[in-house]
Amino acid sequence: MKPDFDLLVIGGGMVGACFAALAASDPELSRLRIAVLETHPPTKPPVGADVDLRVSAISRGSQRILESIDAWSRIPPQHVSAYSEMTVWDARGRPRGAGSLHFSAAQTSEPSLGAIVENRRVQWGIYESPAMRSRVTLLRAELAGLQVNVDEAFVTLADGRRIGAELIVGADGAGSLSRKLAGIETRGWEYDQHAFVTHVSTEYPHARTAWQRFLPSGPIAFLPLADGRSSIVWTTTPDHAQFLVSCEPEQLASELTEALGGALGQVGVSGPRAQFPLRLTHALQYCKSRFVLVGDAAHAVHPLAGQGVNLGFLDCAALVQTLSCELAGGSKPTDLGETRVLRRYERWRRSENALALGLIDGLNRLFSNSSSLLGWARQAGLSVVDRSALAKRFFIGRAMGTGGDAPAIVNRAR
Ligand SMILES: Cc1cc2nc3c(=O)[nH]c(=O)nc-3n(C[C@H](O)[C@H](O)[C@H](O)COP(=O)(O)OP(=O)(O)OC[C@H]3O[C@@H](n4cnc5c(N)ncnc54)[C@H](O)[C@@H]3O)c2cc1C
Repeated sequence: MKPDFDLLVIGGGMVGACFAALAASDPELSRLRIAVLETHPPTKPPVGADVDLRVSAISRGSQRILESIDAWSRIPPQHVSAYSEMTVWDARGRPRGAGSLHFSAAQTSEPSLGAIVENRRVQWGIYESPAMRSRVTLLRAELAGLQVNVDEAFVTLADGRRIGAELIVGADGAGSLSRKLAGIETRGWEYDQHAFVTHVSTEYPHARTAWQRFLPSGPIAFLPLADGRSSIVWTTTPDHAQFLVSCEPEQLASELTEALGGALGQVGVSGPRAQFPLRLTHALQYCKSRFVLVGDAAHAVHPLAGQGVNLGFLDCAALVQTLSCELAGGSKPTDLGETRVLRRYERWRRSENALALGLIDGLNRLFSNSSSLLGWARQAGLSVVDRSALAKRFFIGRAMGTGGDAPAIVNRAR
């Protein structure tokens, strides 16, 4: 019997929705029946000038992916904060001084290095994209069970319904139930660090720069917001993060001012605050017969490099490219769930993501450390990278999502 859908995406967060919209706008895949299963799909556009606590640095590569589905233009420009500079320094050094690293869009052919945008606005932009609205069926329901094998794939919903698909795409986030039900194991560990987040005003303008200072307990980032404030992501010990969430505003302002070494002057605090536990997770396999993982369901990464959702968008573009090539070569929709096809995507993206996860974890270990020997090595390392055009090009390319083995869509129409 023919299954209900060709492609069924579990989880309609930024990544799952992006995959569905990309597939629905691809010349080959758009003729397929595509559905997204999401417990809490957004139902109306984010309103008001308030900036939600959850923001992401969206790379140039991701912007191009979102442009290709006409989602980027649906984010109001006043809520997009493009940044053209990035300054990283060790607690012992000074920004732009010895032992610091500076990236500038002027060193690239791009107008900016990336943009800070609220997650909910990115997600809404994707849901509003033409292909998503016209060609994707949205199922507002919760996944409860999953069965996949060579011949068939189906999910059971919390309300008891059963839905079959040629291929199921697991995009249900870091705690992915679909991944567990498919029997895919992960490697990883809890960091003894939590990410504290809030938005602050600063005495000096952020100058469209992403500022990051590495402290022994973890990095603190001031990310430029479009309204002139900065979004803080401070990775620190769990106890300290809890303290920062609950302390008096004056105490928090003074801690933040000191943590950035006064680089942006006095910090003013007024908005909401939150903290998130951090862990590294990497799925040992990205696919099984008729099942494949994308985004945080496949890999959860430390936020210090702002790469999580960007890697997820690259997964989506790579998977769509792989499946599209297969159909263009004469295969039938039912062949898309074959492991010989899915393994091509797995080999491609698992090695790219393993490199990114390893680099980011290595940076965190090197910098979240008070050893004086490592302190010297860090400062020397930052200075060396800052002076090496080749090393800088490598890091900028990775950070912008345009380097490495990027999907064709990222480097098309430049
Ligand atoms: C503090 C912090 C800062 C960050 N900053 C950045 C940054 O600057 N840049 C960057 O690239 N990344 C950043 N990240 C990472 C980024 O937030 C994640 O990588 C991204 O949100 C993952 O998206 P996703 O769609 O894969 O998963 P999720 O956002 O977790 O979405 C999963 C979706 O699946 C749905 N779902 C789950 N279970 C079920 C079920 N059983 N049935 C139906 N639906 C289900 C959920 O409702 C959800 O909508 C940051 C993370 C943190 C914690």
